Order: sequence, then structure tokens, then C-alpha cells
Amino acid sequence: MTLPKTIDAGWAVFEIRYSAGLEIESEKMFGYVDFDERVVRINTDAPLPMLRETLLHECLHIIFAGVGLGEEKIETNNENLTEQTTKGLMLFSRLNPFLFKWLIYGEGFYDPK
Ligand SMILES: [Zn+2]
Repeated sequence: MTLPKTIDAGWAVFEIRYSAGLEIESEKMFGYVDFDERVVRINTDAPLPMLRETLLHECLHIIFAGVGLGEEKIETNNENLTEQTTKGLMLFSRLNPFLFKWLIYGEGFYDPK
């Protein structure tokens, strides 16, 4: 199985590292983005559909970071959040065609490369 290896955010490229038994500070995690190291860690203990969901979750953390959303609480509304998500997903899908198709369809798409 071919797993996505990188996430191009435009402003940085994140390496994806897969491993069993992922823990961050003694807490079991499904996934984690290390923004300082530019690494996304994915726990492979979960079944494949959940692994894809976890990777999409971590990608959204990166996309939202790219449109200026950090750790602080903010006020937003449906229209603003939808606009940020739409632009983030469009940019993300163009920069990461293999990863985007893999997240949506899994192995069930034809990749001529
Ligand atoms: Zn999260």
C-alpha cells in the first residue's frame, strides 16, 4: 500500500511519519502535528479508514494554521469558517493531488504515476 509521505502547505512541507503506539507526553494519540519540526505523526494501530480520518484531521490543523488560526479562541461565524475552509481545501488539493485523493477515496482511485 502506498501511503502519503508529505503534506505541502505552500508555506512549509510536512513529513508524515507512521508508527504504532504513538504517545505524546505519555498520552496515547491517533495523530499529532509538530509545527516546529514540520512533522505529522500518525498512529498505525487504528484500522485504515480511521487512519485516513486522522490524517485528514491533522491536515485540517495545518490548513487552518495556514489561514491564521492558532491556539487562541476566536469568534467566527458559519460564513467566515466556510470561506477559510473552502480556500484552504482548494489550495491543499492543488498542492497535494495524491494525498487529497487518498484521503477521499483511499486506495480505490487510479493514479497513473
Ligand atoms: Zn486535533
